[in-house]
Parts: sequence; structure tokens; C-alpha cells
Amino acid sequence: MQKRILVTGAGGFIGHHLVKRLKADGHWVRGVDVKYPEYEASSADQMEILDLRKAENCLLATRGGIDEVYNLAADMGGIGYITANHADISRNNILINAHMLEAARQNGVKRFLFSSSACVYAQGKQKDPEVRPLKEEDAMPADPEPGYGWEKLFAEELCRYYYKDFGFETRIVRFHNVYGPLGTYDGGKEKAPAAISRKVSLAHDGGEIEVWGDGEQTRSFMYVDDCVEGLIRIMASDYRDALNLGTDELVTINGLVDMIARIAGKRISKRHNLSGPQGVRGRNSDNTLLRKVLGWEPSIHLEEGLAVTYRWIESRVSKSVREPAMASR
Ligand code: NAD
Repeated sequence: MQKRILVTGAGGFIGHHLVKRLKADGHWVRGVDVKYPEYEASSADQMEILDLRKAENCLLATRGGIDEVYNLAADMGGIGYITANHADISRNNILINAHMLEAARQNGVKRFLFSSSACVYAQGKQKDPEVRPLKEEDAMPADPEPGYGWEKLFAEELCRYYYKDFGFETRIVRFHNVYGPLGTYDGGKEKAPAAISRKVSLAHDGGEIEVWGDGEQTRSFMYVDDCVEGLIRIMASDYRDALNLGTDELVTINGLVDMIARIAGKRISKRHNLSGPQGVRGRNSDNTLLRKVLGWEPSIHLEEGLAVTYRWIESRVSKSVREPAMASR
């Protein structure tokens, strides 16, 4: 059945991929963002430029009989960016989420999905690289990442209040690091897989790249196609509480560098910058609840997804080396 769907953050990485998939599935899609997608045109039926920190713009975005909202718009970036901008990130995202929830409710939207983050998890449970995978209940008692983690945790609560007080149907997804082609790979907002792919593609065979921290910190990474599939399945489910969406394939950042170097066919050594931001020491997703609710979990292996991602970033980087003006467009 064709639905009318709003994707906020449609000019961003996950939003752009989601719009493409929803269009391929035959839905009518409105995309909203403060910018157009950077690397290819949006396939949305309408792509509107609106600043969703303003309540009146959220009412505009949700007008006209929208069935479902995927609320992906957020001020965010990699660990360097979210460590350095607590006030801006918290204020901007609280405004976006509060106004979007209320506008969607007022305009009679049927379902609202909020994109939360593994940054909501208590920091005290992530001190060891051999971390116990995080279950949904590990977000409480609250001790999330400063700024970005706190505002995500509060917006999750707001979604629960909207269901409790108004019966407004909300879904809450906690993403663990997402990567893939058409994502930011330079400028300071990029995440580890994209940053390392860029550094490796710029390095010579036998060269050296900088790695933040001692590289023994661990994470799991999810390919964007799995992320989009999970989003659609969670929206369609009846589950209203928070759900992890990530893989449980744990890797050290040093291991990630070695994997990308192998894909690139280069010998790369690492210069560890111990004063660089590195976030929590270890983080992994426990997918027990996700499997129970959906009967599905992300399955694309890291090396497989990284090969596609590296090739895309490598082609962009070599183009910008050859034609600097063209590639910056
Ligand atoms: P992204 O930065 O590529 O996309 C977010 C988009 O929101 C951007 O295009 C940005 O321009 C837009 N935006 C920011 N402020 C806005 C405003 N005031 N009005 C309208 N649009 C605005 O990030 P992404 O990786 O696609 O992430 C999408 C969502 O998933 C975000 O909510 C993010 O917090 C969450 N998330 C992502 C990851 C990940 O690994 N990518 C991990 C955890 C959570």
C-alpha cells in the first residue's frame, strides 16, 4: 500500500539512502533538510529546505496528510565534533525533536520514528575494550555521553510521554555507528570508517596515518543498507520502546585501519595521537531484543561494506586531487 512519508534530514547520509529505498518501494516521499544531498540529487517527490528548529517549519513539513515521519534531522558528527560542541548540539536537537513531535501530532501523523543513538548508554558500562554488548536497559541509570547523548536520551523520553499522554504512536531506534557510500568523509563531521578511508586513500603505499587514541578502543559498525532495512522494519513493528539497531561484530580502531589498508592494497603504519578524542573505551550492540521483536538483524559484514565505502571515498579523493574545484562542489 502506498504511504505518504516524511523523511527529515533527507539531505544527510542515512536520510538520503532511506528516501531512495522508500521511493523504490513505491511510496510518496517528502524530504526536508537545511541542505540538499551533497553527492547526488534526492529522489524525493518533494525536497524542501526548512530549518526544523522553528515550530512553524515543522508544521509545514508535516502538512498534507503524512502517514509516517522518519525524524532523522539532527546536528551531529563524529567524535571530534560532538565532543567540541555540547551547547549547540543539545540546543539545536532539543528544538528539532520537540517541535517535530508536536507538529506531527497536531497534523495527525500516524507514526513517528525518532533516531536515537548508542551515545545514550551509561558511560560507566563502556570502560573496557572487551565491553559486554549493550542491552536496551543499560541506558539507565542515566550517565550518557555529554551533550549529544543527553539530548537523545531526553527526546526518547519525550516520545514515550507523547504515547502515554496522547496515544501518539512513536518508535525509537538506537543506531550504533552507521557507514557507507554517500556519507560525509571530510570537513570535521565524518566518522571513523570514513575518516580512516580518506586518510588511507591519501597515503602512499608504505605511508603513515594519524589515529586518535591508542587505537585499542572498540566499536561495531553497520552498513547503511542494513540500517535502512532495520528502520523500515522497526517502523512497521508494534514495538514502542527503544531498540538497538547495529551489528555485534566488534573491532578495534587499529583493526579497522588494518582492514581498510588491506582493502586498499597498501601497507599503512599508524601514528597514535593520544590527545585526540576517542569517546568511550568500548561499545557493542546486544541484538537479543531486536531479534526477538523483528526476527531479523543486520548481517552485512564489515569488510564487505567497507570495500564498497572505501572505493567510493577513494574515487572522490582522487578526483579532488586531480580536479580540486570540481570535487569541492
Ligand atoms: P547527517 O548529519 O548526514 O544527517 C543529518 C541531517 O540533518 C543533515 O543533512 C543536516 O543538514 C540535517 N539538519 C541538521 N539541522 C537541521 C535543522 N535545523 N533543520 C533541518 N535539518 C537539519 O547524519 P546521519 O548519519 O544521516 O544521521 C541521521 C540520524 O541518525 C541523526 O539523528 C543522528 O543523530 C542519528 N545517528 C546516526 C549515527 C551514524 O552513525 N550515522 C549514529 C547514531 C545516531
